[in-house]
Amino acid sequence: MTVRPIVVYDDPLLREKSRRVQRVRPAVRRLIDDMVETMRAGNGIGLTAIQVGVPERVIVVEAPEENEKDAEESEGRESWQLYAVINPKLARKSREMEDGIEGCLSVPGLVGEVTRHYAITVEGLNGQGQDVRIRAKGLLARVFQHEIDHCDGVLFIDHIDDPEKIWPVAEGEEEAAEAAQEIPKNPS
Ligand code: ZN
Repeated sequence: MTVRPIVVYDDPLLREKSRRVQRVRPAVRRLIDDMVETMRAGNGIGLTAIQVGVPERVIVVEAPEENEKDAEESEGRESWQLYAVINPKLARKSREMEDGIEGCLSVPGLVGEVTRHYAITVEGLNGQGQDVRIRAKGLLARVFQHEIDHCDGVLFIDHIDDPEKIWPVAEGEEEAAEAAQEIPKNPS
């Protein structure tokens, strides 16, 4: 597994709509392995292939089930479920919405408050090319929505109209900011 460089926000690649994966070939499985490695190296809770420069609809997610508080209080990554989904789509989404703080490995230094569906069902293929159906709520649902957005060239900042709801996280002050704002410990 290799940690790949992450594409950041001024790169037009991030605005591209990724293409569907037609066949789960070995290169896709290698891509997933590298994405997991890259996500963990960046202390992230989700990553999309476009963020490592590959415009194919592939996401990985590794996040606590419930909410931001759990991200701080949970035992950490070892207790979180790892998901890899190819051609992910939101099959169901709750009417109930929830506000939460998000960051992004491709938008370093910024966090913001985004309204997302509280609960969702994601459908797609796993790394073996089998159909998967994942039900998620809270933070986990948020991360899936954030990553599926990346497949369509959408960034979390696009969902924020009010400039007061987006703010910089100064380098080296992330710990303090987290405590103050209940930012998830691992921005996706
Ligand atoms: Zn992101």
